[in-house]
Amino acid sequence: MYNPEMKLSENFQLKEFVDSQTAERLKIDNRPDWEAVINLRNLCREVLQPLRDYAQQPIHINSGYRSLLLNEAVRGVGDSQHLYGQAADLHLPNLDTGRRWYKFIVEHTDFDQVLFEYRRTGARWLHISCRRDRKSNRHMAIPNFPAR
Ligand SMILES: [Zn+2]
Repeated sequence: MYNPEMKLSENFQLKEFVDSQTAERLKIDNRPDWEAVINLRNLCREVLQPLRDYAQQPIHINSGYRSLLLNEAVRGVGDSQHLYGQAADLHLPNLDTGRRWYKFIVEHTDFDQVLFEYRRTGARWLHISCRRDRKSNRHMAIPNFPAR
């Protein structure tokens, strides 16, 4: 059963990856299936919790799991890893913090992709993904990735 209070790791709860203002506004059902929950838990254990322990401060998730309808509503890429609970976009308190977090992830975690994304408006965030099958994690890090 879907339980938004479920703990994925020491400092992360399922609802942080599922709650979405866009989904709420458009009345989109954004509840993940069990496969996506397991993937989110893996993302937390392998990448986000180690980062949280390093950062010593709360980490806010801008966007985690996205159902098909939500992904379309936010104009995400068609085969986005957000659809599978394999990815999260992290809010950055400032640019320097973002750079430190990026470096930590690259050097200390088993990740698939980490993209330092930006828009021309000046918005910046970290997109991070991780797959459960370790062999398929590509360790692809891009420090300047223009978002659509
Ligand atoms: Zn993303």
